[in-house]
Amino acid sequence: MFSELSGSNLWFNGKIIPWQEANIHIMTHALHYASSVYEGLRSYHGKIFKATEHYQRLHKSAAYLDFQIPYTSEELIEATQQLIIRDKYQYGYIRAIAWCGSKVMTVSHNGADVNVAIGIWERPLTYPSQYYSDGICMNIAQWRRPDPNTAPVHSKTAGLYPISSISKKEAEKQGFKDALMLDYQGNIAEATSSNIFLVINGQLYTPVPKCFLNGITRCTCLQIAKDAGIPTQEITLTLEDLNKAQEVFLTGTAIEILPVGSIVGHNKTWSFKPGLVTHTIRSNFQNMINNF
Ligand code: PMP
Repeated sequence: MFSELSGSNLWFNGKIIPWQEANIHIMTHALHYASSVYEGLRSYHGKIFKATEHYQRLHKSAAYLDFQIPYTSEELIEATQQLIIRDKYQYGYIRAIAWCGSKVMTVSHNGADVNVAIGIWERPLTYPSQYYSDGICMNIAQWRRPDPNTAPVHSKTAGLYPISSISKKEAEKQGFKDALMLDYQGNIAEATSSNIFLVINGQLYTPVPKCFLNGITRCTCLQIAKDAGIPTQEITLTLEDLNKAQEVFLTGTAIEILPVGSIVGHNKTWSFKPGLVTHTIRSNFQNMINNF
C-alpha cells in the first residue's frame, strides 16, 4: 500500500506520527475538488534550503484558493527541522501539503477544516553524468499552461497538476525525460515541473512567469546570473527562439539545474549543448547549496 516511497515519521497537524499512520478519510474535500496546495523542498547536509521562501509560497498558494493555513511559516520550518533532526536526514526531499478536510463536501469549501502535513525522505540527486554532459531529451506537450484568468496559475495547487502529469507521462511513454509546455498563446512557458532558460550568444533568457510558477530555483538562478555578470532578460519566448539557442536548461527544487540536449516536436528537432553559461550557473548553484 505504501509503495516504494517510505519515510519514518510525518508531521501531521502539529504531531509527529509514524509514516504508516498518516491517513485521511475518503470523503476529503481535497480528494474530490483538489482543494490542496503543496511545496517540495530539499534539505542539504541537514539544513532546509530556502525554507522561508517555500513556506511563504505555501501560504500564498492557499490564499489563491481562499483558505488559510493554521500554522505560520516559522512553525512549519520548526516542524520540518524536528523531522530532519529526529531521523537524521541529510539530503532529504520534503513534501509539505495543506488541504481542506472532510468536514464539508460541497463545491465551496466554506467552513472546511484545513489540515497540514509534512513528510520527508532521503533523496539525494543522483542523475547519470550524461545528463550534465549532454542534457536530457524533451518533447513538446500537447497540453498548454492555461490563461491566468481561467485558473489560479500562481498557486502550487494540486488542481493544476494534471496538465503536468499527463504531459510528463506521455513524454516518458515516448522515451523522453520531460516535456516542454507552451502557454495558452503558444509561447514557451516551462517544463512539467520546472522552469526553463535559454542561452543565446552568451545571454540568458527566460519567459515571464505570467501563467506558471515563478520558481524559487528560477529566482535563485536569476540572482546567480546577475552576480556572475551574465546578461539576463525575462521576455516572451517562442519556438522560433529555440533556433537561436545554443544552451537550454531547466530549474526546479527537485531537479536543481538540469541541462537540455534536445527538444523534439512540431516536426522539428532542436539540439543544444551545455556550455559556459549552464556550467557557471550550475556550479555557482552547487556552491550555494553546499555552503548555506
Ligand atoms: N513549475 C512547476 C509547474 C513546478 O511544479 C515547479 C516545482 N515547484 C517549478 C516550476 C519550479 O519551482 P521551484 O524552483 O520553486 O521548485
